[in-house]
Amino acid sequence: MSLELRQVLKAYRTPDGAAMTVLDIPEFTVATGEQVALIGPSGSGKSTLLNAIAGITRVDSGEIRIGGTDICRLSEVARDRLRAERIGFVYQSFNLLPAFTALENVLLGMSFGGKASDRGRATVLLERVGLGQRLHHKPTQLSVGEQQRVAVARALANQPKLLLADEPTASVDRANQQTILDLIRETCREGSVSLLLVTHAGEVAEQLDRVEQLTNFNRAGAAK
Ligand code: ADP
Ligand code: MG
Repeated sequence: MSLELRQVLKAYRTPDGAAMTVLDIPEFTVATGEQVALIGPSGSGKSTLLNAIAGITRVDSGEIRIGGTDICRLSEVARDRLRAERIGFVYQSFNLLPAFTALENVLLGMSFGGKASDRGRATVLLERVGLGQRLHHKPTQLSVGEQQRVAVARALANQPKLLLADEPTASVDRANQQTILDLIRETCREGSVSLLLVTHAGEVAEQLDRVEQLTNFNRAGAAK
């Protein structure tokens, strides 16, 4: 699914009550099946942008079109459904459910989308991130890098058409970084999934179709 942003504005309130504009994006697009790396300094709004595209954070104004549908005009219920059915999200802080095993966390990524959960696919995804021997471990029993790999498998579980990945390899070593990136890229290529991936690693960014520096298309970043 294509992604198109127009005239997107988002401000946060600072603790003293003043408005602080974080996103001021006249235009930004990702074509269907395109793989885009998003780079930019810490605090420049990368996570806010991904959260806005996923409909987790509401923007103040503008259009965010996903497969042609402007999510800013959808009800909260419709936005949640679109996210569950069509969007995969690798959170910067993983967001794994602590009471559930790795396999169960991946299966939950499927059931949110309403499709029957597919144990075989969940197992294959975990094997592909090197966790075939960790299916029944809970998050506290996994290293941080292993938790990150579960989060990647979960994001791919529901066969999304748009994958948003917030520094999905920040916590893993170089070898696992490439394994995760290969899995993400292959899965996206197979399903013509559009990918927007935040990274600080040059060797990750350069493997994607296009590298976009947030400060180049976000006017809010220009003042910093
Ligand atoms: P990045 O992911 O590029 O490091 P973020 O999108 O997390 O940046 O944050 C952008 C800016 O917005 C930061 O200056 C941060 O302090 C601020 N910010 C993020 N979330 C909130 C929030 N919930 N309330 C207020 N300010 C926030
Ligand atoms: Mg961030």
